[in-house]
Amino acid sequence: MAGYLVLARKYRSTGFEEVVGQEPIARTLVNAVKTGRVAHAYLFTGTRGVGKTTMARILAKALNCLSADEPTPKPCNECEVCKAIGRGDDVDVVEIDGASNRGIDQIRELRANAVYRPARSRYKIYYIDEVHMLTMEAFNALLKTLEEPPEHVKFIFATTDPDRVPATILSRCQRFDFRDIPTSLIRDHLKSICEAESVEIADDALFRVARAASGSMRDGLSLLDQLLSAAEGPVSDAEVVSLLGTPPDERMLKLVGAIASGQTAAALTELDGILADGVTLESSATALCDCFRNMMLSATCGADSELIELPDALRDELASLAERYTVPALVQAVGVTQSVSRRLRGSSVARALVEAAVVRLAETEKFVDADSLVRRLEELSGSSASAGSAEKKKPAPSRPIGRR
Ligand SMILES: [Zn+2]
Repeated sequence: MAGYLVLARKYRSTGFEEVVGQEPIARTLVNAVKTGRVAHAYLFTGTRGVGKTTMARILAKALNCLSADEPTPKPCNECEVCKAIGRGDDVDVVEIDGASNRGIDQIRELRANAVYRPARSRYKIYYIDEVHMLTMEAFNALLKTLEEPPEHVKFIFATTDPDRVPATILSRCQRFDFRDIPTSLIRDHLKSICEAESVEIADDALFRVARAASGSMRDGLSLLDQLLSAAEGPVSDAEVVSLLGTPPDERMLKLVGAIASGQTAAALTELDGILADGVTLESSATALCDCFRNMMLSATCGADSELIELPDALRDELASLAERYTVPALVQAVGVTQSVSRRLRGSSVARALVEAAVVRLAETEKFVDADSLVRRLEELSGSSASAGSAEKKKPAPSRPIGRR
């Protein structure tokens, strides 16, 4: 589509106060700019799509905006510099992708250029994304500049994997950990974009997109992009389900319902139906794990807990299914489904693994784990020891590990 701008770019935040879900970081940076205490080097950590690059560009604009005589917490977004930084091609704000420029040569070039004054702005700013990908040689070269940075140079590093950044670099940076963005905030932001774009989308559909984004605004926006480019008219929840390739809720409820009532054959048939609809084994296993996680949360924190991110109808259904389990059984079920999800990739017997997990969950009382065995033995030896005493102790309330 000519001239079509993806939503993530069209709606990229342009001011500190706009970055969704990262308010504490934005506040600290605003104060730093206001009080003139901007550090020489920052490290932004967090998973993809949580606002690291956006925040880095806003900070760069704040430092270099031409509309003010000094760094300003409210860059104008109108001047040449603000616009160029927004596009990612300003002469004084150099964006480097650490994943594709990992070597010593790139960092040597950076060091050679860093000594020159900025062309038209107050600061020369180097933004290195995925900085953990640099080679050790490159890190060492970078360290030399970090130890004695020229007055006019600022560094902003971003990484999804801070554990791989050497301690010598970390200790010279002010670090900000960007959090995963809560589903409700992603949903609200997507909703406001849909309104701005005059797009109709069902609330449950929007919620499902936000959930699938799992904390990443960028993922949420690109899913919305895909939906809008395919949709003619209002976007329904069914369209989202088919785009995501996730099993529909009602099918998952049937599957979990069969498991909960120990109907192994029915559960396997339901799984077969889900796979026949084109849902992948991975998505099915993940959805199963999600169901049991939500049931576990429902059993421990109550059905209306904020930790459960589900539409109300689904929430109630899972809550009543959860009542048929003990909490340890739900914990065990989460463990079983999570471990099968992890082992699926690359397995030549992936389907058998998922089926085995379903059977195991449906016939859970036949699978006694070591912990409960020890507990049972302890209970038995305890009750035989007290059997002769005059006052009979009540046996500790014991429940089978499986269903109630
Ligand atoms: Zn400006």
